[in-house]
Amino acid sequence: MQTILTGVRANEEPTIGNFLGAYKSMVNLANEHASDSHINMFVPDLHSFTTPIDHSKLYDQVIKGIKYYLAAGLDANNPNIHIYRQSRVHAHSELAWILDCFTYFGEASRMTQFKEKSEEHADSITVGLFNYPILMAADILLYDAKYIPLGEDQFQHLELTRDIATRMNNKFNQELFTIPAPEKEQVKFMHLEKGLRIRSLVDPAKKMSKSSTNEKSKISLSDDPQQAYKKIMSATTDSEGVIRFDMINQPGISNLLTIETLLTDRDIQDVISDWAGQTSYGDLKRKVAETVKNFLADFQEKVSQISDEEVEQVLARGEAYANSVADQKLALVQKAVGLRK
Ligand code: ATP
Ligand code: MG
Repeated sequence: MQTILTGVRANEEPTIGNFLGAYKSMVNLANEHASDSHINMFVPDLHSFTTPIDHSKLYDQVIKGIKYYLAAGLDANNPNIHIYRQSRVHAHSELAWILDCFTYFGEASRMTQFKEKSEEHADSITVGLFNYPILMAADILLYDAKYIPLGEDQFQHLELTRDIATRMNNKFNQELFTIPAPEKEQVKFMHLEKGLRIRSLVDPAKKMSKSSTNEKSKISLSDDPQQAYKKIMSATTDSEGVIRFDMINQPGISNLLTIETLLTDRDIQDVISDWAGQTSYGDLKRKVAETVKNFLADFQEKVSQISDEEVEQVLARGEAYANSVADQKLALVQKAVGLRK
């Protein structure tokens, strides 16, 4: 059985970018493939403090992250769906160390996300921030995951994972790891034309990020729906004066059209033709703001109905499964590198 795997780091409140790029893709794929694939959805909680966070909030944020997965539509009663915390599966950290020793400093240094994040957090660039793509490689390779629904920003890390896995398979002359599918195949598997990148509402040249300190740039899943409505109304657009889908010249407008399409489960071409030739950015914003507001109200209602006890039960089952699979893979790698007979 193949494995489809993804996770959303619990640091700040997830945004609709995370929802659309990761949660929703995963729920769609689970609906399509859970009868004959393992669906692993985990919270990468060890990744949470590669950049500074408020540690007193972390535990609750992780539990909330699990509630979000369930509210997004993952069916925890399906025996092929596994929900777990990275920190409760010790093999992630152990494999990450081994992979570290087969990853070149030069290749890890090329990661653009490290460069970007180290500019943002110039006063606290940790080794953990540098190292996190290798922990991410361990997260994927432990389970032989072939498909990893991700946003566009993570494809470079996926490529690194493929390189490390190929290198180790060659060096030890065996299929230690399944090589995850390349970007093009991943995107096709998600039924997309290219990787998804929801833009910042303030600067649509950038992606929406949950760790952004500019509240206006992002819609968080816990935002008050009326506040979210206002954020969409004040989103940066352009001065072209006509509604077109053109990510290069009109990224703000195109971003709004993308959000509308994905939240309403429509076809992008249909949404584009609804607005073709129209000139009122205010009308478009009102429509998208209404969609976002309704989405948040509905989503938050679902989250409020999930109890902590339910989360504990889901995690107990998911973590038992994850440990059994990950321990076997770790033992295989330990044998290959000479730590076990
Ligand atoms: P941070 O600012 O803390 O890095 P983030 O918003 O980039 O937060 P991550 O936890 O790094 O979120 O990523 C979780 C998942 O969400 C990944 O699959 C990532 O590709 C996806 N994702 C993040 N931002 C976007 C976005 N703007 N559009 C689409 N997908 C996104
Ligand atoms: Mg990120």
